[in-house]
Amino acid sequence: MDYIEKTKIMIELTSINSSDIYYFDSTPYESEFQKIFDFYCETLEIHSDYGINPSHLFFINNISRNARATKYNDQFIIGLNSGTIIYLIETFKNQFSKNKINLIQLNQVIIGTEANNLLYQLSLHFTLYHELAHLIQRSNSIHNETILLNDSVTNFSERKHLEELDADCFSSLCLATHVIQLFETNYKENKSILEFKKLIIASTATCIYYILSFSGADKEIYFHENSHPHPIIRISNIIGHFLEYIQQNYGKHIFTDILRKEVVEKAFELNSQIFDDNKIDKFKDTLSKNYIDIKKYLEFYKKLEENDKSLAVYKWNEKAKLNKN
Ligand SMILES: [Zn+2]
Repeated sequence: MDYIEKTKIMIELTSINSSDIYYFDSTPYESEFQKIFDFYCETLEIHSDYGINPSHLFFINNISRNARATKYNDQFIIGLNSGTIIYLIETFKNQFSKNKINLIQLNQVIIGTEANNLLYQLSLHFTLYHELAHLIQRSNSIHNETILLNDSVTNFSERKHLEELDADCFSSLCLATHVIQLFETNYKENKSILEFKKLIIASTATCIYYILSFSGADKEIYFHENSHPHPIIRISNIIGHFLEYIQQNYGKHIFTDILRKEVVEKAFELNSQIFDDNKIDKFKDTLSKNYIDIKKYLEFYKKLEENDKSLAVYKWNEKAKLNKN
């Protein structure tokens, strides 16, 4: 797909200017940017039945790590900062295997691709699907609006937290689907639960790593404050939904609760090898001290979720029901 041609159309139809756009031709990661563009334009196309048509994807000319979803005059736009993509390429794709984390164990997991490549792909997917969920939340809205992935300006609102938790949940379901597909297609010979477990550990570890690498991850825990839920709460929400979906698809007799607990423990252990300081110990400590309040907070939003037909997960479930019939 021609990036320049497609962004030209977007400029004509939306409020985005050419100075907002990152043109990747002749840059060091040109081919990777092109690949991402092609793949996710197709993803948007596949999800167009959520009422998010016409959709556009572009890279924002900004080196900070962020992304945004915008609805403008019935055009649905996802913008990924060039800084986000470059960070993910340089952290996961290029350098991760050189880091001290022992990936040998995980490398056995992925057939035809290396562990760092899987982590790279999952982080990208997570970002894209999270933004996609924000577009889906706005498919029936008449308002123009932009939502940022990292937002330190917008004040707290219940609505905002609800939409963020929903976008994370939607993204977790998409990731779980992706991981299951990966397993089904690549593990023809050796579809053992042990292999599957390794893949799930790698995926869970990625979710933890990615959210903890956002700015604000070291903040004291808070509940009904700021534009986004606290990273610790986000991780609990994401992992919970991700593993729940896996269990639903494989059955608790195969992917047991004991296995689930083991996966989470191993994923944290891998992360404590990545982070130099005692970030993971602090994280686990906060988690255990605030377990009841986190649970209460998530239950509060779960109640709001159930009755809200504008949310992405509600629409996901509706679509799943239709597909079953
Ligand atoms: Zn968001």
